[in-house]
Amino acid sequence: MAQSTETTDWVSRYADEVIAESERRAPGKPVVVASGLSPSGPIHLGNLREVMTPHLVADEVRRRGHEVRHVLSWDDYDRYRKVPLGIEGVDDSWAEHIGKPLTSVPAPKGSAYPNWAEHFKAAMVDALAQLGVEYDGISQTAQYTAGTYREQILHAMKHRGDIDAILAQYRTKPKAAAKKSQKPVDEAELEAAEGSGAAGEDDGSGGGAGYFPYKPYCTACGKDFTTVTAYDDDTTELTYTCTCGHGETVLLSEFNGGKLVWKVDWPMRWAYEGVIFEPSGVDHSSPGSSFQVGGQIVGIFDGTQPIGPMYAFVGISGMAKMSSSKGGVPTPADALEIMEPQLLRWLYARRRPNQSFKIAFDQEIQRLYDEWDRLDAKVADGTVLPADAAAYARAVGTAAGELPKTPRPLPYRTLASVADITAGHDEQTLRILSELDPEKPVTSLDEVRPRLDRAEQWITSQVPADQRTIVREEPDTELLGSLDDQAKESLRLLLDGLDEHWSLDGLTHLVYGVPKVQAGFSADATAKELPPEIKTAQRSFFALLYRLLVSRETGPRLPTLLLAVGAGRVRKLLGA
Ligand SMILES: [Zn+2]
Repeated sequence: MAQSTETTDWVSRYADEVIAESERRAPGKPVVVASGLSPSGPIHLGNLREVMTPHLVADEVRRRGHEVRHVLSWDDYDRYRKVPLGIEGVDDSWAEHIGKPLTSVPAPKGSAYPNWAEHFKAAMVDALAQLGVEYDGISQTAQYTAGTYREQILHAMKHRGDIDAILAQYRTKPKAAAKKSQKPVDEAELEAAEGSGAAGEDDGSGGGAGYFPYKPYCTACGKDFTTVTAYDDDTTELTYTCTCGHGETVLLSEFNGGKLVWKVDWPMRWAYEGVIFEPSGVDHSSPGSSFQVGGQIVGIFDGTQPIGPMYAFVGISGMAKMSSSKGGVPTPADALEIMEPQLLRWLYARRRPNQSFKIAFDQEIQRLYDEWDRLDAKVADGTVLPADAAAYARAVGTAAGELPKTPRPLPYRTLASVADITAGHDEQTLRILSELDPEKPVTSLDEVRPRLDRAEQWITSQVPADQRTIVREEPDTELLGSLDDQAKESLRLLLDGLDEHWSLDGLTHLVYGVPKVQAGFSADATAKELPPEIKTAQRSFFALLYRLLVSRETGPRLPTLLLAVGAGRVRKLLGA
């Protein structure tokens, strides 16, 4: 990456800040950035921002030659709060596991993974690998059950009065307790998050024995419907009761079956890992949010709050119902089925974290790809603006190198049209693609993959059946018979020029040229030389072709459609 682009975008500016702050706080140590994800169900595509924001900053820091560690905390020791709807292989019987850690809940039936958390983590791990995101994944189950945070837990228990005093300032605002990695927040999630947050009712303060920032999972039933009833600072003896009837006294200096409540857990880990940068969702900017409260609690652990920009919501436009098979939740894996990793990275890189945007699953994806290809061309010819060049560089690769790319990136909309018409038939697809540019024909589908596969997947999974293109088998004799002389003449001009113009450019010239020639102009005449009525004539000529070829008024771009249908069938359907 060129030196001159370093201060041109939001990523560079955060990298400046993060490097300076890291050198101040921990000179000579690797820079630490962090993300947290809860594998409580399919991980929403919008939550990818939780990982992409620190990833992009970490990558820029790495490009500048610094050592970086991107900690991705899998919050898999969180309690199972509810059974998500519509998950294949999961029924109401999963409700009996509510209250257990996510790693103690069985995976959906038929899963290759040992438990619920691992099952939902796997899809995200795969997506992050495709996206080129380098991270250090940390299972909170592994950390807690190994006793890794023992000192921190004992310390928090010792200072429970201080923690309680901080939390008490916010207890009148229970709505602010939403956990930061549960975005987008729906009502049920918010309710559940309050249950795990320290400002909720279930923060350990209800036992009559005072406030405790720690919650054991019951050793009899495995769930967290427990109440700490006594704690001895000297012996670390902790007594709890559970709604299942079990009760016992354990030594917290040895016991590894519980966790700090969320609002204490998060700042404890900032201090433990030395996190310099960790963003969170914009819905957590309110007073009493985990981030704000954490900023006060982190001092108890001798730590400092990270630089933590609030990021805006990432929406999804037009995702088809049929493809949201995983509980109606669009995941990063769903997006990567219809777009290349570069495009998805670009969407995150080009917008500042506080700008919201949408990821297109509808027709908009074609326009987005056109925009991406134009950017690619500007980069190639050197006319690109510095900020756009920075976003481009972050999209196509990382400090580790470029991501695998499509060798010959034909326009996505062309590939989508071809896939639409051929229904994924490889031989027919290759025939059409080889005719697009006879000077430089596509000779193997590998040249246009994986972009072709993404476009095919988009057509198959996202475009509704009534918008798909079905080429007529037989000519519409009724329509052909009803045509006036002018319409017949336009078809004859087109048919006469087919052989000579059989390429994408040639056919584009031909279909736009026919109405010009009919009106007495040259086929090469430009818009300035032509009367505005030509546009009307072109529109009605195009509509006629669509009706004769696909029995509709519109369809894929005509040159692509003609190539896809093939010269022989075009002749037959146009009544030659
Ligand atoms: Zn129990």
